[in-house]
Amino acid sequence: MRGLLKYIKPYGFYMLLTLCLKFTAALMDLLIPSLLAKIIDDIVPRQDIQMIFVWGGVMLLCAVVSITTNVTANRMAEVSAGGMTRAVRHDLFSRITYLNAGQLDDFTIPSVVSRLTSDTYNVNRMLSRMQRIGVRGPILLIGGIVITMTMDPKLTLVLVASLPVILLIVVLITGKSVKIYERQQNMLDDMVRVIRENITGVRVIRALSKTEYERKRFDQVNESLAETERRAGSVSAASNPATTLVLNLGLTLVILVGAFLVQSGESGPGTIIAFLSYFTIILNAMLGITRIFIMCSKGLASARRITQVLEAPENMRILAGEEPDHGQGDCHVEFRNVSFSYLHRRDNLSNISFALKKGEVLGIIGPTGSGKSTIVNLLLRFYDADEGKILIEGRDIRTIPLSELRKRFGVVFQNDYLMAESIEKNIDYFRGLSGKEIEKAAVLARAQEFIKGKKGEMGADVAVRGNNLSGGQKQRIMIARALAAKPEILILDDASSALDYRTDALFRKALRENFEDTTIVMIAQRISSLKGADHILVMEEGKCIGYGTHRELLEGCGQYRQIYELQMGSMDGKEQRGSR
Ligand code: ADP
Ligand code: MG
Repeated sequence: MRGLLKYIKPYGFYMLLTLCLKFTAALMDLLIPSLLAKIIDDIVPRQDIQMIFVWGGVMLLCAVVSITTNVTANRMAEVSAGGMTRAVRHDLFSRITYLNAGQLDDFTIPSVVSRLTSDTYNVNRMLSRMQRIGVRGPILLIGGIVITMTMDPKLTLVLVASLPVILLIVVLITGKSVKIYERQQNMLDDMVRVIRENITGVRVIRALSKTEYERKRFDQVNESLAETERRAGSVSAASNPATTLVLNLGLTLVILVGAFLVQSGESGPGTIIAFLSYFTIILNAMLGITRIFIMCSKGLASARRITQVLEAPENMRILAGEEPDHGQGDCHVEFRNVSFSYLHRRDNLSNISFALKKGEVLGIIGPTGSGKSTIVNLLLRFYDADEGKILIEGRDIRTIPLSELRKRFGVVFQNDYLMAESIEKNIDYFRGLSGKEIEKAAVLARAQEFIKGKKGEMGADVAVRGNNLSGGQKQRIMIARALAAKPEILILDDASSALDYRTDALFRKALRENFEDTTIVMIAQRISSLKGADHILVMEEGKCIGYGTHRELLEGCGQYRQIYELQMGSMDGKEQRGSR
């Protein structure tokens, strides 16, 4: 809640005004039954029609004032709640974009999404309900009891006697329904997870003919969600009838006791009628207040989830600059005994070292899960290394501001994505590049060949997730995107895996001829893609099991030679076909 205070403050005056209006409306509502009592008990017996009209008019006025102030205040409450929620959502979103990769791993993406959507919605409901009923409820409750006390203490006893019964019912039912509600939310999360997995994995599921199995899995979560909903429904279904029953019993009791009081002349019929109204007002106020409690417990839980993200520490600190440390010679990119673990259980990288001069190419090869992409993640400082140092031009990357650091890179990630925009915008990526630069990048990435064939050429639209392009075409656009800004360091993580051999070879030739000053880190599965690299790093289970040129590795690294022989055996034919 303290975290939310910052957002409430700007609306302080506005909310105060809302509360004043709510206060006026509640007073008017409390006044009306006593006016009625006065008319019936004092004015009617005098048979003064004019006075009846005057007091009737006053009653009407109260009703009009009540309804206008109430409606206005409710609208204002929605406006301020909406404004505050918007500000929260805005800050939350911008904080999320700055979360580092480790923090995102911890929160998980679906949870971040639900914090942005359903949690902010809960906070919105809480803020608006608090203003709408939070003031009105207590005023009506306390005001009602005070007025009835002054009118007739004996009848008030009836009221006070039935309050604990209602309170008990409400506490029991809400206690139970809050618990069920929490379970329901968790099940909803489960269902969303199954749907997500299903939709993202739809091709695999179909390919393996698991559709029927997946449908059963969905039916299971769906059934348990429905079951919880049923239970929540049957609990809350008891709530309204039970409270109405107590309310009606209380009303009957008031009429019974009232009848005796009127008979004995202790009280007037008007008072009894007013009493019935107050009774209803007070009980409704109580129900309103309990609902506020539920709303608040939900809202506060959500507010906590939101502030967790908002207050997540910024742990990618930029360290104070130090003298450039060039180690042995003039290196552009250097890993010095780097070790790293994502979950701090076992090392995902251990003791990795390499040094690249400006314009050199590093090839990385190794089985999946061996830590190749992790090297890239550390180099771009998505995560901080646990041990060792990563240097660019002799500067520890932790001393370089993130924006400056990342501006040096052009990257194609493994499983990268394209925007649903034109090809040109995908290559430009909001960097304001000129048409010439974009075109040149497309030519170098060998994307021009198929772009020419498209309707609208550069302006042709890319579908969501690039679904209207083949894997190789997507990769070529991504490569063009990486090349377009003439990066100092180019990172290609499995970027040419879907290119045919000929295109791959031509692309590498273009790289050599046009980017001789660019330092390149190239991760690939095919040795043919890496053969020409200045250094090749062979990875296995986070360790470097070979480092050197193609020739050196063929002689000195058994695993490398094994991969080479395997690939040459199966690829000879293809390569020849490709280059024909
Ligand atoms: P690859 O060589 O296929 O690119 P990665 O570098 O992506 O391998 O992954 C290396 C290891 O780190 C794998 O065992 C993988 O399970 C683990 N890993 C990768 N990313 C994460 C992450 N965000 N959280 C936890 N473990 C991860
Ligand atoms: Mg990878």
